[in-house]
Amino acid sequence: MHEGSRSEFDLIGRFFADLGAPRSDVLLGVGDDCALLEVPVGLSLAVSIDTLVAGIHFFHDCAAEAIGHKSLAVGLSDLAAMGAAPAWATLALTLPERDDDWLAAFARGFGDLARAYGVRLVGGDTTRGPLSVTVQVHGVVRADTAVRRKGARPGDIVWVSGTLGDAGLALRLMREGGPIDQALRARLERPAPRVELGSALRGIATAMIDLSDGLAGDLGHILAASGVGAELDLEALPLSPAVASRIASEGDWLLPLSSGDDYELCFCAPSEHTGLIASMADGLGCALTAVGRIHAEPGLSLKGLDGAPMRLSSAGYDHFANNT
Ligand code: ADP
Ligand code: MG
Repeated sequence: MHEGSRSEFDLIGRFFADLGAPRSDVLLGVGDDCALLEVPVGLSLAVSIDTLVAGIHFFHDCAAEAIGHKSLAVGLSDLAAMGAAPAWATLALTLPERDDDWLAAFARGFGDLARAYGVRLVGGDTTRGPLSVTVQVHGVVRADTAVRRKGARPGDIVWVSGTLGDAGLALRLMREGGPIDQALRARLERPAPRVELGSALRGIATAMIDLSDGLAGDLGHILAASGVGAELDLEALPLSPAVASRIASEGDWLLPLSSGDDYELCFCAPSEHTGLIASMADGLGCALTAVGRIHAEPGLSLKGLDGAPMRLSSAGYDHFANNT
């Protein structure tokens, strides 16, 4: 940062040198030119990176603790979607100024989630500029058991975890500036990555993705990668009471189908695993709902409440959609 390296090292030492769960596979963590990490023999590294920018991915007045939580949660969600076990994270933080209260709260949000999943912060970079947070997560998985987007087969059931559209509804209500239920707001600001579910689905799911941009678009990625199509049954979509009542009053199916930030998992599995998957839900503490079926013919079709086909006017959120 601009004040010179002493204050930068002091900041790193105070807030980031000892964050997350201690791990014996961290041979060298924060403080040197590189971290040294031991990948277990026979496993592969699963790596993913995400950036959250103030004013784009979170409101400028969003609580620092929530930003810390979410910046790690979105990466853990990617690891979950591969069936990988989280291990390490690095953090590139760009801050407009040093604010120790903000940093302490950010580190608390990041650190609490990191410890919950046994993740150690092993390095990063700290710079001055408009607020932006980039987190790279590293997990481990046996490559031949990692669950990819490719692999869905005709006849597979399409499943989703949790409920859909809550984060999108929270975003909408916050933009409108009206009152918002705290639990609904937490669905946007403090998403729970489905790490245990992702791991449990290795060997069961044929294809999987985490829902960051809405079910229609994200399932579309599975379909494209797998060379198949699917029919979604709108009546089956798992909805919270808040989203269900918004749909009842405004008929807005885009909320569960193409609003972002749910960080639930969408996966496909052969129908013979239906009983097994249904029985997994209790132990995992999140609902698992069959919402459709894979078929050979490419494309995504929607079955409406009356059983008739429906059309979706726009797909999932796309950052560059209007920048032609
Ligand atoms: P270098 O100049 O070699 O890139 P830095 O001065 O950027 O080193 O960082 C010093 C040490 O602090 C490195 O080990 C780096 O990984 C770590 N570090 C810097 N910023 C952060 C951060 N925000 N979170 C965690 N570790 C950090
Ligand atoms: Mg650096």
